[in-house]
Amino acid sequence: MRVIGLIGGMSWESSATYYRHINEAVRERLGGLHSARIVLYSVDFHDVEELQRAGAWHKAGELLADAARAVHAAGADFLVLCTNTMHKVAPAIEAATPLPLLHIADATGKEAEKLQVETIGLLGTRFTMEEEFYRKRLAHEHGLTVLLPGPEDRELVHRVIFNELCTGTVNEASRAEYRRIMGELVGQGAQAIVLGCTEISLLVTDDDASVPLLDTTGIHARRAVDWALAPE
Ligand code: GLU
Repeated sequence: MRVIGLIGGMSWESSATYYRHINEAVRERLGGLHSARIVLYSVDFHDVEELQRAGAWHKAGELLADAARAVHAAGADFLVLCTNTMHKVAPAIEAATPLPLLHIADATGKEAEKLQVETIGLLGTRFTMEEEFYRKRLAHEHGLTVLLPGPEDRELVHRVIFNELCTGTVNEASRAEYRRIMGELVGQGAQAIVLGCTEISLLVTDDDASVPLLDTTGIHARRAVDWALAPE
């Protein structure tokens, strides 16, 4: 079994979910007392969030490149960055070590292809929804049409992630807002909703939408197990 190198802590609330999903998937696949071989480097999210807010993406890339080097030195065979947003600096992470990076948008795009959907609604941080690094990858590499909430709702989705979910707060009123926003995206033609932030599955489940939810945390974690268990 290959060693999965997790770069997490963004936030640790979702890294804990990755850890559980990965180990559950290994137990399902191998049975008995099997569990995943994992190296986890968990950053201080305070530092990362400050750099995001300041637009200091180069520095954020350096911080995560250092984390990647530490994970490599600790024996990981490939890298899994446990956040959608920080894939904005994926090239810096990829350049830091010879290890392959399992890109979260590719794992998600492949899942959308399996479902045979063409139009998806995307929820995530402001960076993930509004900038090109994520949407373009879904569109160009996976042929998806990506629908976004309107500006006010994007602000709401972003705020709930940082002010509530990343601090371990799950709020009923916010769940109702997410349900409404997902419903509106479905009304505009979304055939599935990408939960493009690794904390959103703490708030909503399949029961909250009338179309399939593509939960990036679960998808990414399961794909990491595919890589870990693939034959040499
Ligand atoms: N975990 C989140 C994501 O998947 C947001 C935290 C961050 O900004 O990294 O985008």
